[in-house]
Amino acid sequence: MMAALLLRRDKKSTAAHLKSDLNRTDNSSGVRQLQELLDSVLNPEKPAADTEALDWCKCLIAGGEGFEEFCKTVRSYDNATLCGLVWTANFVAYRCRTCGISPCMSLCAECFNNGDHTGHDFNMFRSQAGGACDCGDSNVMRETGFCRRHRLRTGENVPSVPRDLLLMSEMVLSRFIICIIQYLRDGYTEPDTSTERDLQKVLQQLEPQISFLEELTKMGGAMRTVLTKILTNQQTFKDLSMGQEENVFAKKNYENYLSALKNSGLVSVEEKAQTGAAEPTRGSETGALGLLGAAAPSSSGSNKEEDQDGGQSIGQRKRVKLSSTTKDPSIMDSLKHKCFLEELLFWTIKYEFPQKMVTFLLNMLPDQDYKITFTKTFVQHYAFIMKTLMKSQESDTMSNRIVHISVQLFSNEDLARHVTEECQLLDIMVTVLLYMMESCLIKSELQDEENSRHVVVNCSEALLKNNTYWPLVSDFINILSHQSVAKKFLEDHSLLMLWMSFVSFFQGMNLNKRELSEHVEFESQTYYAAFAAELEACAQPMWGLLTHCKVKETQEYTKTVVRYCLETLQIWFDAIGFVDELAPNQVTFHLPLHRYYAMFLSKAVKCQGLDLESLLPDQEMLMRIMVHPLQIQASLSEIHSNMWVRNGLQIKGQAMTYVQSHFCNSMIDPDIFLLQVCASRLDPDYFISSVFERFKVVDLLTMASVHQNTVLDGEQERPMLEGALTFLVILSSLRIHLGMADDEILRAEMVSQLCMNDRTHSSLLDLIPENPNPKSGIVPGSCSFEEMLSAVADFKAPVFELGGSMQQGMYTPKAEVWEKEFDPIMVILRTVYRRDVQSAMDRYSAFLKQSGMHTTGNPWPPYKERTPLHPCYKGLDRLLHCKTLHIVIFTLLYKIWLDHSNMSEHVLCMVLYLIELGLDNQVEEDKEDEEPCIEEHCHDSWFPGTNLLSNLHHVINYVRVRVPETAPEVKREREPPASTSAEASNFGQNVREAQVFSLVAERRRKFQEIINRSSTEASQAVRPKSSSTRWVPPGTPPQLVTEILEIHESMLSLLIKLHQKLSAKQNSLSATWLEDMDANPNRHIHGDGITAIERILTKAATRSHQSKRSIQEICGKVFPPVAPKKNSPAAKKTMDKEERRQRARERQQKLLAEFASRQKSFMETAMDVESPDTEAAMDLGASEVKESEVLYDCVICGQSGPSTEDRPTGLVVLLQASSVLGHRCKSDEAKKLPTTDDERIYPADTCGAAHDVRLALMQSFFKDSSCLQSVSIGWDGGVYVQTCGHTLHIDCHKSYMESLRNDQVMQGFSVDKGEFTCPLCRQFANSVLPCRPGRSTEVVSWHMPSNNKTSVLVKEVEDLQEQLGLFPVSTTTESNLSKEMELVIKDIKNTTQRKYMDYGKNPGSPDNDFLFMYSVARTNLELELVHRGGNLCSGGASGAAKRSCLNQLFHVLAMHMRLYSIDSAYNPWTRLTQVAPSRDDCLDDERPEVPMLFRDCPSLLIIFVLTMPQPLRKEHFICLVRMLYNLQYTQALAALSAKFSPEERQAWSTSGALKKNAFNAEKSYEALLSHVITELSKVKTVYDVNTEEPSMLSTSVWSPQSIEYSLQQFCLPYLRLSCLLQHHLYGDNLSGCPEEEEFSGLAGCLGLLDPVPQPSNPMYSASCLAWTVSAFDLMSQWCSEVTGLTNTQAEKSMTLLVQDLQWASPHLLHLPDNYNTIFQYYHKKACTACKKVPKDPALCLICGTFVCLKGLCCKQQGICECVWHSQHCGAATGIFLLINASVIIIIRGHRFCLWGSVYLDAHGEEDRDLRRGKPLFLCVERYRVLAQQWVSHTFDHINKRWGPHYNGL
Ligand SMILES: [Zn+2]
Ligand SMILES: [Zn+2]
Ligand SMILES: [Zn+2]
Ligand SMILES: [Zn+2]
Ligand SMILES: [Zn+2]
Ligand SMILES: [Zn+2]
Ligand SMILES: [Zn+2]
Ligand SMILES: [Zn+2]
Repeated sequence: MMAALLLRRDKKSTAAHLKSDLNRTDNSSGVRQLQELLDSVLNPEKPAADTEALDWCKCLIAGGEGFEEFCKTVRSYDNATLCGLVWTANFVAYRCRTCGISPCMSLCAECFNNGDHTGHDFNMFRSQAGGACDCGDSNVMRETGFCRRHRLRTGENVPSVPRDLLLMSEMVLSRFIICIIQYLRDGYTEPDTSTERDLQKVLQQLEPQISFLEELTKMGGAMRTVLTKILTNQQTFKDLSMGQEENVFAKKNYENYLSALKNSGLVSVEEKAQTGAAEPTRGSETGALGLLGAAAPSSSGSNKEEDQDGGQSIGQRKRVKLSSTTKDPSIMDSLKHKCFLEELLFWTIKYEFPQKMVTFLLNMLPDQDYKITFTKTFVQHYAFIMKTLMKSQESDTMSNRIVHISVQLFSNEDLARHVTEECQLLDIMVTVLLYMMESCLIKSELQDEENSRHVVVNCSEALLKNNTYWPLVSDFINILSHQSVAKKFLEDHSLLMLWMSFVSFFQGMNLNKRELSEHVEFESQTYYAAFAAELEACAQPMWGLLTHCKVKETQEYTKTVVRYCLETLQIWFDAIGFVDELAPNQVTFHLPLHRYYAMFLSKAVKCQGLDLESLLPDQEMLMRIMVHPLQIQASLSEIHSNMWVRNGLQIKGQAMTYVQSHFCNSMIDPDIFLLQVCASRLDPDYFISSVFERFKVVDLLTMASVHQNTVLDGEQERPMLEGALTFLVILSSLRIHLGMADDEILRAEMVSQLCMNDRTHSSLLDLIPENPNPKSGIVPGSCSFEEMLSAVADFKAPVFELGGSMQQGMYTPKAEVWEKEFDPIMVILRTVYRRDVQSAMDRYSAFLKQSGMHTTGNPWPPYKERTPLHPCYKGLDRLLHCKTLHIVIFTLLYKIWLDHSNMSEHVLCMVLYLIELGLDNQVEEDKEDEEPCIEEHCHDSWFPGTNLLSNLHHVINYVRVRVPETAPEVKREREPPASTSAEASNFGQNVREAQVFSLVAERRRKFQEIINRSSTEASQAVRPKSSSTRWVPPGTPPQLVTEILEIHESMLSLLIKLHQKLSAKQNSLSATWLEDMDANPNRHIHGDGITAIERILTKAATRSHQSKRSIQEICGKVFPPVAPKKNSPAAKKTMDKEERRQRARERQQKLLAEFASRQKSFMETAMDVESPDTEAAMDLGASEVKESEVLYDCVICGQSGPSTEDRPTGLVVLLQASSVLGHRCKSDEAKKLPTTDDERIYPADTCGAAHDVRLALMQSFFKDSSCLQSVSIGWDGGVYVQTCGHTLHIDCHKSYMESLRNDQVMQGFSVDKGEFTCPLCRQFANSVLPCRPGRSTEVVSWHMPSNNKTSVLVKEVEDLQEQLGLFPVSTTTESNLSKEMELVIKDIKNTTQRKYMDYGKNPGSPDNDFLFMYSVARTNLELELVHRGGNLCSGGASGAAKRSCLNQLFHVLAMHMRLYSIDSAYNPWTRLTQVAPSRDDCLDDERPEVPMLFRDCPSLLIIFVLTMPQPLRKEHFICLVRMLYNLQYTQALAALSAKFSPEERQAWSTSGALKKNAFNAEKSYEALLSHVITELSKVKTVYDVNTEEPSMLSTSVWSPQSIEYSLQQFCLPYLRLSCLLQHHLYGDNLSGCPEEEEFSGLAGCLGLLDPVPQPSNPMYSASCLAWTVSAFDLMSQWCSEVTGLTNTQAEKSMTLLVQDLQWASPHLLHLPDNYNTIFQYYHKKACTACKKVPKDPALCLICGTFVCLKGLCCKQQGICECVWHSQHCGAATGIFLLINASVIIIIRGHRFCLWGSVYLDAHGEEDRDLRRGKPLFLCVERYRVLAQQWVSHTFDHINKRWGPHYNGL
C-alpha cells in the first residue's frame, strides 16, 4: 500500500525522502518503506527486460541526486592502490620481464606508459584470453615498475567515505543482487531440455542489469567495498535467498536452484549427510567412482584381478584404484553455497562464463578480502568448472574465460599457497586432471595387443585434439611455479603417486605400426595432439617441479620422484607384457615416464650431488629401460631411410617434431641421456650389438663382398648403417647432460643453429630450446642470451637485394666459431630438415675456402674434443673400448678399402670419428697389453683386449665368412693371392662355430648371461646362429657357403691403405712421415678424409710406441699398386656415389647461379627504362638509324623484321593510371603523418588540387573548348606507359593471349583484362603499343637541317597546320596497323577512370578527348622528368630515348589526334606569331577565349606537335619552341611584375621605358618588363586586384640578378619539357650540366641561344627570344587580351597570371621514428566515416587518410574503404600501413600484395602482426625503397605474389 503510493511519486524526490528518513536515528519506518518499495520494484516475477526497476535502483542509490553526479562523488573517494583494470580479448597490454615477479604479469597501456621501463625487457601484446592490470600489486611485480599513480599510493590520502553517501547503495544493492540471482535460477534449464539459445536469451534480458553491476565496480574502491560486503555476507544470503518460505514463487525459485545443483552431479552437503556419507574421509571410495562416470569401469573392472595378481607396489594398487585415492570425494561432488558470491559464481559457470559477469567478478579483485574469498570460491567450484568445460560446445571461448579468471588468482604466490593449504587445491587439480583424462582412455596396443593391461589416452578424442585440457594444465603449471606450492606437492607421496599414474596415461600413446604392404589409407593427424599433450600435460609440469630441485637440500624430493618413476615404469612393463624382445614394426614417440626418470636423474647428479648408483635399478631393469628409447632412435633412421613411406607424411612429421626445438629438451634429449646412462652401466658388447641389431644392419657387417639381408632392402642398408654409426657417435660424444654447464649448452645450441643458417634474432630465440636455458633476461650465474649471442655471432644489418626484395637483420657465426666451435654432431642432433646438415657443411666449406684453411675438395666435418665426462658417467667410454665395436670398425675399414657395396664417405667419416673418440677417451685399464700377440686364425675373440689403442695395431690374418655361392670369394680359388681353398677345408667344425659376426647371438647371449647370472649354460643355449629365425623370411633359406678370407691387416694398416686410396697416391705416407707430423697436431683440425686419417695415425703414434713402430713399418713397406678399382666404373658406383652427388649438387648450383646472374643483368638492362643512367652500349642507336628500315625481334616467334601496315609489331607495355604527379607539393619537405588530434594534413597545396582549381577558375570565365586547350590534365589519374623494351608481332601476341586464357594455372593477373607477362622477361604488362613503320630516308629527312629564316619557318608551320590529316602512311583504308593503334587508344582510355578524362562541361565531347590525349603525352614527359630528379642536369644519350616508348606513344597519339580538327577560329599559332586586329569576342554571348597569357606553354607545344603532319621536321619543331618561348617569357615578366610592390613597379617601368629605343631592345628584359607593366596597367589595372599577396613577397628589393633568376625559374619547366620532347622525337643527346647552369644548357640544346656564347652576358633568358614581328606590338596584343576582360573576369586575372610552375618531387608522408607513436594513436582511433574504431585500421601513406580495412561499415557500392580510397587517392594505386600488423600493403587495380614492413626491431627484423611486441623503429632505407617504387611505378614488376582483392579490402 505504502509502496504503491511511493511508486506513483517522482523517483528522485522519493529517493531523497527515503534517504533522509534512513538517516534519522530511528530509521525503522524508512527501512520498512524502502523494503516495501523494493518488494514491488524488484519483483523477480516481472520480466527482466523491464527497465523501470533499473531506473528506480539508480535513483534510490543516488539518493535524490543525479546518478552521474553521484558516480563522480563516489569516485572521489577511490582509495584503491592497485590498478586492477580488467580487459577482455584483443586488448593491447604490456608485459615487462624485468619488472615481473610472475611471468603472467601484465600492465595496461596507461600504467605502462606512466612507469619507467627504459632498458627493460618488455613487449606489447594483444591479450588472447583477457587479463587485468597488475600495477600496484607487489606480489606479482616489482615496485620499481609501478606507474606514477600507483607508486604514490594515492589511496592513502583519500578522505574516508561519509557515512550516508553509500547508505542507500548498501540496502538497495543486496536486494538487486538477489533479484538477479532469482532471474538466473528461474531462467535456467538443463542443456538437454533446452538449446544453447535459451541460456543466451536469459543473459540477453539480464544484460542491462549485469552491465549496471559492472559499471558500479568501476566507481572505485568505495563502491567496491559495498559490493564485496554484500557478496560475501553469509547472513544476508541466508535471509534473502532462502528465508521466504511463505512466498510461492520464492520457494519454486529455490527448488529450481537445488535441482540445478543436483543435475550437475553436485549435492549440497546437508543432502549428502542424509545419504550417509556425511564425513568423507581420506581414501574413502564412496561415491567417487560412481560420480566419475563412464571412465571408471575400465579401471575398476580390472581392479580385482590386479590385486590377486600379487602386484605389491603402492603404484600398482594406485593405478587400478586411481579414482578412489581421491583424497576428498567431495572435490568432485559436493557444494554448499554460503553467500551470494558463491551462488553467483555457480550460475556464472552454469551459464558458461558470460563476459560481463566475468568482468564484474574480476573488477572487484583489488579488494584484498574479496580476492581471498573469491579465490576460495573458485577453487571450491574448480571440479565443477572443468566438468562444465568438457561438456561445453564452445570450449575455446570458455577456456579463455576460465584462464582469464584463474591467472589473476593463481599467479599470486601467497594466495596460491593459502588455497593449497586450506582448500586442497593440489588434490583438486590432480584429481580433476585424472578425471578428465579418464574420460578418453583406450587399451594400449603396444607390445602385446591382446593381453595388454595398459591404458592410454585416445589422441583422436576431442579432449586431446582440441586441447580442452589446456586451462587446467596451465593452472597447474602456474601454481607449481611457486616454490611453496611445489614443495607441498613433492612432499605429498600420495599426490606424487597419483601424478605418476596420470603421466602413465600418456606412456605409449599414439602408437605407430609400420605399414608393410599398402599405403595407409588415412593419414591420421592425431600425432600433433599427442606431442602437444606430452609437452603440456607431462613435460611442462616436470620442468616446473625440476626448477625446485636444484640444491642439495631438495635431494629427498628427487629420490622420491625417482622411486615412483621406477615403480610406475615397472608396472608399465608388466602391463604391456614386455620381457626382453620388442614387438617388431612398432614405435611410439611418447615415453614420459622414461623422461621423468631421466630428467630427475640428471638433476640429481648435476645439481644435488646425489650418487647415480643409488638411483639406478638393477641391470635387468636398465636393459628394459633402454629398449624403447633405442627403438625410437632406430625408427628415426628408418623413417629417414624411407622404410615408413607407406605410413604417409605424418610419420615424418613425428620424426621432425621429436627433435624440433620446442620438443627436443623434453623428448630426444632425455632419451639420449637415458641411453647414455644405460650404456655407461651395461656391458658395452651387449649395448653395441643391440644398437646394430636394432638398426637392422647386422647382416651388412660381414667382411664378405656379398651378403644377404633378410630385413632390409638393398637401398636401405647404407642409410641405416650411417644412422647406426651416427647414433653411436652422438651417444658417445654428446655432453648435454653429462657435464656441460648451462652456459656451455646455450652456446653450443646457438652455434649449431647459426651454423645451419644465418638467423634472425627472433627465429634464433625460437630455435633455442627452452630448458634448461633461459632465453632472455638475466638469471644469476648464467650468461644472458644477448651476451652469448654477441659472443658467437656478428650482426648483418638488413640489406637490399637487386629488384627491391628485402632482407631482415641476420646473425651469422663469427670466424672463430667456424674455426673452433662448429660441431657437426650437435647440428645433426638438432636438425629437423635433413638439408640443414648439408647447409651447415656447405657454409663451413665456404668459410674454409675463404679463409684459406682448406682449399682443395670438400672438407669433412671437423672433429671436436669434448667436455670431460662427469665422473658418474665414466662408464660411457667403455663403449668405445669393446671388442664388438672394434670388430665392426675393422670390418667397415676393410670393406671401404675394397669398395664393397653400401659403404659411403659418411660411413668412413663416422668410423674415423669413433676411432678418434676412442683414442681421446681412454679407459683406465688394469693391464697394459703392449706385448705382441700370437698370430691366430679366425678366433672368436679377434682382439686380445678391449683397449682400442692396442687393438689398432693388432693384425687379423684369417676371417671366416658365409657367402652365397655366387659371391666372388667363392670363385677366388683360382686367383693366386688368395690361397684359401686348401686351407679352408682344414679348418674344423670348431672354427666354424667361432663365427664372430653373430651380433644377434652375441647380444642375446649377454642378455641371458645377465638375466640368469650364469654364463655357461646361456652361451650354449643361444650360441647357434640359426636361432634368430625371426629375421629370416620362411621358405627362402639363403644358399650360403662358408669361406675363409685371408686378411693380414690391422686397423692401422687399413687406415694407411685408405689414406693412399683417398689421396690416389702409392706410398702417400713415407716412412719418415711421422717425424714430420708431430710438430703440430692442431693444424689438422680442418681438412678432408686424408687429414682425418693422418690425425688419427699421429694420435695413435704419440700415445703408443707399439703403434708408432707399426705405422713406420707399414709405411716403410713398398706396396703393390693401389687397388685398381679406384678408377674402375664399379668403384665409382659405390665409394664415389656420395662424392658424385656432391659434384652434381655443385654443378646444379653453378648453373642456377649462372642463370640468376643472367637474369640479373637482364633485369638491370630492363630497369634502365626507368633510370636516367645511360649505358654506353645503347649508343648503338645512332648507327641503327642509318639502316634502311628498323627491324624488330618478336619475342614469341623469334623472327626479326620490320613493323608493317599488314603485320605490325608492337612494344610490350604496361599502362597504368598514376596520381604521383598530382601528389607533388611546393615544399620539398614531406608532410608529417599526424599522431595527435591537433595535427592535420591539408591536401589543398598539392599539384593536382592546384591544377583543378586553375581549370575550374578558367572554366567559370572562358569558353570551355578554349579552356580545354589551355591546360594539361593527368596530374591525377593520368596514364603512364612503360615498357620492358621487348617487341612482338601483334598477331603473335593475340595467340599468346589465347593460350594464356586456356591456361588455368596462371595466377596473379587476369587475362580477361588483357594482362599478361612479357614472354621473355616475365615483366607484368597489359597492352601492346604498335611500332611505327620506319624507313631510314624519313629519319634523315627529320634531321635534315635547313638554313631557312625563322619568318619562313613560321609560315611553313602555319601551312602545315592547315594540312591536318595528311600522313605518310595510308589512312584511307583501315590497315591492321591503324586498327591496332585505335585499340591501344582504347586501352589507354580504359586504364583510368572516367572522372579523370571528363573535365569539360560536356562529358565525352571531342574537346574532352582532345585534352585527355595530349595530356597523356604530358603525363609521360613529366613523369620522366620526375624520375630524372626533376631536372635534365644528368643528361641522357640518344639511345636511351630510342629504348623508351615515348616516341612510339607520340606516334600513336598523333594518329589519333588527326581525327580532331581544332575548329576554333582563334588559332593560337596566329596569336603567337602575328599582330592581328583585335576582334570583338567579348561582344558575343559566348564567353571569351582564354587569353594567351593564361595559357600553358608546354600544353600548347604538345598540341602543335601532335596535330601537325608527321613526321615533323626538326626545324619546324624548333620554330614552335622558339615562338612559344616568347610567350612563356612574357608570362614570366607579367608574373614577376605582379610580385613587385607598386613603388618598385613604377621604378622598373620608368627605367625600362628609357631603353625601349635602344639597340636590341626587343631582347632587353628591362625594356620588355617596362612594356608589360605599362600595358597591364592600362584600362583596368590588373595590379590593383590582389594587393595583399604581392606586398608580402616584396620585402626584399629586386636586383637584376634576382629578376633574371626569377625569370629563368619561371621558364625552366617549359624548357625542360621542350628539351625532353626533342630528345624523344629526334633522338638528340641530352648534355649534362651543373644545376645552376641548367637554363643555358637547355637553351643551347634547343638552339635558342646564339651559337657564339657570350660569357659577359649572364642574362640568358632574354637573349633566347626570337621575334618575327615587333615584340612590343605582340606583347601589347597579349596584354590587351587580359586587360580587355570584363570586371568579374579581371578580378581573378592576377591569380591566373601568377602561377608557380615548379613542384617538388613527390614524397610519401613523413613517418615518426618509433612505431609505437603511430600505433598508440591509430589503433583506437575512430574512422571519420563510420565513427567506429575499425577492427583493421589502415593508413594511406600518400595522403594520411585513415580507413577501415575490410570493414563492412564503410563499404560503399560493394567496395570496401581501402580499395575505394586507392581509386580516389592514387587512381587505383594505394599504399596502406596496416596499423595492427605494422605491415604495408599495396593495392594496384584489382590486385594487392603484402609489401612488408618499414618498421624493424632492434635486430633489424619485421614484426608482422606485432606478435613479439618489441619496440619497432623506422627503417629509413626501406621507406626510401617504398617511395621509390611508388614514384617509378614499379610495384608490379618488383613485388611478386599478387592476389585479387575482390574489392574486399
Ligand atoms: Zn593499469
Ligand atoms: Zn598503474
Ligand atoms: Zn619494467
Ligand atoms: Zn611473332
Ligand atoms: Zn620484356
Ligand atoms: Zn590517400
Ligand atoms: Zn571507415
Ligand atoms: Zn568503418
